[in-house]
Amino acid sequence: MFEVIEKSGSDWRVAPNLRDYDALCRSFDWSSERQSLAGLPGGGLNIAHEAVSRHVAEGHGARIALRHVGRDGAVSSVSFAMLDEAASRFANILESLDVRQGEAVFSLTGRVQAFYSAALGTLKRGAVFCPLFSAFGPEPIRARLEIGRGACLVTTRTLFQRKVAQILDSLPTLRTVLLIDGTAEDERERIRSLPRLMEAASGHYRTAATSREDRALMHFTSGTTGRPKGAVLVHDAVVAQAATARYALDLHRDDVFWCTADPGWVTGMSYGVIAPLVSGATSIVDEMEFDADRWYSIIESQKVSVWYTAPTAIRMLMKVGAEIAHKYDLGSLRFLASVGEPLNPEAVVWSKQTFGRPFHDNWWQTETGGIMIANFAALPVKPGSMGKPLPGIEAAIIERTAQGIRVIGEPDVEGELALKAGWPSMFRGYLGEDERYRKCFADGWYLTGDLARRDRDGYYWFVGRSDDVIKTAGHLVGPFEVESALMEHPAVAEAAVIGKPDEVAGNSIKAFVSLKAGCKPGAELERDLMAHARRRLGPAVAPREIAFRDNLPKTRSGKIMRRLLRARELGLPEGDISTLESDERT
Ligand code: AMP
Repeated sequence: MFEVIEKSGSDWRVAPNLRDYDALCRSFDWSSERQSLAGLPGGGLNIAHEAVSRHVAEGHGARIALRHVGRDGAVSSVSFAMLDEAASRFANILESLDVRQGEAVFSLTGRVQAFYSAALGTLKRGAVFCPLFSAFGPEPIRARLEIGRGACLVTTRTLFQRKVAQILDSLPTLRTVLLIDGTAEDERERIRSLPRLMEAASGHYRTAATSREDRALMHFTSGTTGRPKGAVLVHDAVVAQAATARYALDLHRDDVFWCTADPGWVTGMSYGVIAPLVSGATSIVDEMEFDADRWYSIIESQKVSVWYTAPTAIRMLMKVGAEIAHKYDLGSLRFLASVGEPLNPEAVVWSKQTFGRPFHDNWWQTETGGIMIANFAALPVKPGSMGKPLPGIEAAIIERTAQGIRVIGEPDVEGELALKAGWPSMFRGYLGEDERYRKCFADGWYLTGDLARRDRDGYYWFVGRSDDVIKTAGHLVGPFEVESALMEHPAVAEAAVIGKPDEVAGNSIKAFVSLKAGCKPGAELERDLMAHARRRLGPAVAPREIAFRDNLPKTRSGKIMRRLLRARELGLPEGDISTLESDERT
């Protein structure tokens, strides 16, 4: 057991936004949080207005919204006024392309400035923004653009050539691809150069008069079975994103905030774009991927005060050792938070020793649209715990019953984590899948699919998933999507995919395959299957390991038992797997 990390008043150079957790829980209501936002002139709510235009209208346009660190380390600053203007140009482009309110604009890019103008411009236009993970291969990209009926895609020339050109013909709804680094020579049917259009577009745009419940964002996530799910968030989500930035991330207007998440996932959007901009803070945007020296030098040179990252990255920092951290002056750091996977208690203790401050773990998921459970600045940190529910969020540990659910009142009992439905950033549907959405709720509770327990002090502890989805390096991967790609290979009869514990990535993806008659297992076929999976799915989603089996274990109804394969892989007692099967979420 790790010691609880108590924080003394002198540890705070800035008074935390949330000083008395219990008092705020008692007095909290979402409508007063909503009142801290500006709202659209004439009524309505629009995320882009709250994120940028509001600051400009209030005379803060010259403040720095983004500090972008390029591949070569060169830093460029973007003010709120510049970002607002770029977003307006993008909104005008969408209008000229006849992309209408409610239609979907997708992005497939890394952390480049155009991503921010595209996201905010789409919201200004009243269209729905859907970022994709740029490490996806062509198949996951195609499936998501098809399900989301993408009307427009913003990407780079390289990503287009490598991943999109080959699927374009199968996507009839996709009317326009905007190339961030495109030139006149790239332009042809459906392909346009974004810089050329941006140059010609006006920098003024009257933000669409969206209402709180109008669709704003779509984030794809995965279940155990079936196709990826497009979780829909509405403009009202900004109320929760702003409140959680204030209370759970302790973000102040003068902070320099660094959220290291990839823009293709929900954290990259909710806390990489929306929350810090709404708070008026300055965000660091690093174009490169993880590198310990680079990260520490960014914290030092940019004077990062609030840092939001993920356990995989923290474990990588631990692996390279604290000595590297000690080469840098990291004294600007005031608040450290982590999300996305279980944060090992050792990592919290390590961070307290190395940075003088613990990482504050918090929990949420695509469907919740914002942080739901957190270790707060003013409360002691229990290493290994996800923390306490946000004021305004009612959480419980429940058990599913034939009639609905039973809330487990006693502490320290494992069950499914549930949240009382109705907070502003709660997803409003899975695109085109009403039944799947309905099944996520019972008796007014949203059932998260995560197993957890609550201790006597009200802290929540993550136990595991109740389904088979895999978290690898912080990315949620649906086994079905990987299995489907493997099954396309002519030698494969059946496939089952599991998460295998990995010291750094949390889990790595392992596939079990049985072969068609006449096909022989062997190193060559393994290589061929790996190459096929990487080509179709992209390296972040493809299996790291493939094992051949004569048969895959199945239930009497013929469903492959991934959990049995996983139990065997871990050397766990197999137990009664047939009972495990019945509680599977989709
Ligand atoms: P995503 O929808 O991709 O953001 O993934 C959400 C899932 O990530 C959750 O349902 C959990 O399984 C996992 N997760 C998120 N935050 C944490 C955390 N702090 N500790 C453990 N697991 C987490």
